[in-house]
Amino acid sequence: MKKTTAQLEKYRAKRDFTKTKEPSGARQVLPAEHRRFVIQKHAASHLHWDLRLELDGVFKSWAVTKGPSVDPADKRLAVEVEDHPLDYGVFEGTIPKGEYGGGTVQMWDRGLWAPQGSKTPEDAIAAGDFKFVLAGERLKGSWVLVRIRNNRGRDTRTNWLLIKHKDEYAQPGGTAALIAEDRSVASGRTMDQIARGVGKAPQPFMLAKAESAGAVWHSNRSEDKPLAAKPAAIAAKSLATLPDFIEPQLAKLVDRPPAGPGWAHEIKFDGYRVQLRVHSGKAKIRTRSGLDWTD
Ligand code: MN
Repeated sequence: MKKTTAQLEKYRAKRDFTKTKEPSGARQVLPAEHRRFVIQKHAASHLHWDLRLELDGVFKSWAVTKGPSVDPADKRLAVEVEDHPLDYGVFEGTIPKGEYGGGTVQMWDRGLWAPQGSKTPEDAIAAGDFKFVLAGERLKGSWVLVRIRNNRGRDTRTNWLLIKHKDEYAQPGGTAALIAEDRSVASGRTMDQIARGVGKAPQPFMLAKAESAGAVWHSNRSEDKPLAAKPAAIAAKSLATLPDFIEPQLAKLVDRPPAGPGWAHEIKFDGYRVQLRVHSGKAKIRTRSGLDWTD
């Protein structure tokens, strides 16, 4: 049995594919240059946002009950759910009432992701401390998923917290407006339009041309035509964006140096401190306040 087939056993067991239009995972996809992610807004019995990160041939999935927050002060509950097939990354529509997860599904965000830190993403997930960067249409920058303890063993679910790291994409106070966004990034449709089955069909970004993002989806169904990978290409660009300037730490005058293993000490010489930045083969020297001193 193929690894992904075994990984999707739970997913398939919960669903009757003669009743739901959700993908069964039968469609094949070639590896892309970067891993893809989607967030699906899902009006099931409780409204939630499903975060799905491509890893080892499936989507690792978490149901974020209140939706992601771009405020680093917030910790959002993210309930681990079963791995989903990669062809779920093009699904937008309504799961019939009475079926598992019955309700409307909207493609709320999509793009590319990459792990952060020295661990492999598999090891980071196993360790319960999983850092990654998102390059989506709505969500960008650095995030962490932290596994938390179960509620005295009564809770059979595995719960995590989804937290935005402080970076240039953090927006304290910006979450309410973000969560209020009710347009699909794939079709532009609202939840209501999707539920009524009106409006444009979604543009499935995972059925992409090889030359644009290296993401090719080979379908065994003739109605699935490849479409341009514009969002993936945009995301790939922003994933590789070097920050414009990193403010250096400054020395602080204290009576005695702090002790402990977390500290190293160096003599502070008088003079100029500069930052050397190399981007696309070009070097730039900047002062600590960001002035360009290259010439
Ligand atoms: Mn869901």
